[in-house]
Amino acid sequence: MLVNLELLLRDAKQNQYGIPAANAWNEGSIRAAISAAENYKSPLILALYPAMADIFEFGKIAVRAAKTARVPVVVHLDHGQQYSDAVKAVRAGFTSIMVDRSTCPFEQNIAEVKEIVKFAHPVNVTVEAELGHVGQGSEYEETKNEGLTKPAEALLFVQHTGIDCLAVAVGTSHGVYAGKPELHFDLLKQLNQVVPVPLVLHGCSGTGDENLKKAIQLGITKLNLYTDLDKAGYSVLEQRIKQEEITGMRQAESAMLQGYREKLEYYIQLFGSNHRA
Ligand SMILES: [Zn+2]
Repeated sequence: MLVNLELLLRDAKQNQYGIPAANAWNEGSIRAAISAAENYKSPLILALYPAMADIFEFGKIAVRAAKTARVPVVVHLDHGQQYSDAVKAVRAGFTSIMVDRSTCPFEQNIAEVKEIVKFAHPVNVTVEAELGHVGQGSEYEETKNEGLTKPAEALLFVQHTGIDCLAVAVGTSHGVYAGKPELHFDLLKQLNQVVPVPLVLHGCSGTGDENLKKAIQLGITKLNLYTDLDKAGYSVLEQRIKQEEITGMRQAESAMLQGYREKLEYYIQLFGSNHRA
């Protein structure tokens, strides 16, 4: 069933669980993610990133797969940085888009996000935006205290843009962390008190189970995952190669997708979204 973020995140917020937003990059990964969600009766957010796949052509494949899924699936544009990405996503049938203008000054971020909300909402497409900036894990030690989301700005941002959910910067990072992740839970708590829409956490891979569970208790409803799923896929492939079970590309691909699916199933249970579909 193809849905947007609105009802899913509202329910997650009310009942204090998190929904995984898994990056997918081809038809196999779409199917693996959907089967993980179906196996555990979990809602799912399929996050498609413009640098990983053609948003328009690939998006249509994801939309088709979501429509026939036995659980609610959101087809979501991840880090749409160009206006054209958002337009292509809506035309391909995406139900949700992230507009990432987090490196722009505050006023410009508001203005550009607002433009997207204006054309997305009338066609039932939900919008996520980011305030503050979640950086790259490789620069974690130098940048971990930079770009944190400010509560007072967050409230104004949501009021002025009309977005459906807000990605916050509270100490996580994209990719692999160089250093130990340190989350600012007091800040997250404040943000959850002042921001009227559900909160989103990017860079969940490598953040640690306890940190993620605590973040969910403090209001995070959507958790973005890629690196951990990728690593899990690769490690199943390595094991199978050692066991001399891989004789060609198709076995290699299915081993990787098995690792990806199992890791996603693990996170579904950790986040508590199992049996919420
Ligand atoms: Zn992200």
